[in-house]
Amino acid sequence: MDEILSVVADCILKAESILFIVGAGLSADSGLPTYRGVGGLFEGILTQEGVPIEEAISKNMLQTRPEVTWKYLWQIGAACHKAKFNRAHEVIAQIESWKPGTWVLTQNIDGFERAAGSKNLIQVHGQLSELFCVNCSYRTTAEELLAGYSKPMDLPPKCPACEGLIRPDIELFGEHHMSSSEETFKILDNAPIDIIFLIGTSRDYQYITKPLYKARRLNVPIVEINPAETVLSEIANYHILSTAADTLDKLWNICEKQLVS
Ligand SMILES: [Zn+2]
Repeated sequence: MDEILSVVADCILKAESILFIVGAGLSADSGLPTYRGVGGLFEGILTQEGVPIEEAISKNMLQTRPEVTWKYLWQIGAACHKAKFNRAHEVIAQIESWKPGTWVLTQNIDGFERAAGSKNLIQVHGQLSELFCVNCSYRTTAEELLAGYSKPMDLPPKCPACEGLIRPDIELFGEHHMSSSEETFKILDNAPIDIIFLIGTSRDYQYITKPLYKARRLNVPIVEINPAETVLSEIANYHILSTAADTLDKLWNICEKQLVS
């Protein structure tokens, strides 16, 4: 393990541009039940309404019974509100300050990457704290309108401007959120990435596999950090079977030592 860590740290030291592709596992160290996350609190369970959670948090349910969708969005929002970014988010943001060509492509909707300081960020599923009205152009934040998902209130929340339905700017099941990220995707497509980290995700969505296959063609190293093997493991050059916070902290320490010596 130590040997892999020093090889990977060496890649970081030499790299100018690093891409972090991150999923639920990144926030697992924050104790968060992550929407669509592997082992997330909600995945695969039947709700009190007798429908699978994927149906409760879907585009159709929001249109027909928004109070049901909101009940579960609220639970996730409240969990995010109580939790905080962890050492892994911090290290990624520190690396971006050190190497401005660093990018984060995240599946998570908790917004912890931005809170930790990441700026070159693609949130493919959106962010739970961003809210908008489905009727008018009203936009706000959960902090502003819902006291960060901590204030008890009637659900669904109503637009203060037009009484319309308020919803978070995230990808619900049955939707595609990514169009809003298309411009950023183009920038990322042309970015000269020197190393890719695949952290806490096990999904082979196209937006994940595309940069990975490109990296393989260009001999760009891919490092997977995950406590378990995933469907993406075979494409990675290095596997670190551990948690994100612990591994990134170790990598950061090795890099720091190299820099001062
Ligand atoms: Zn409105």
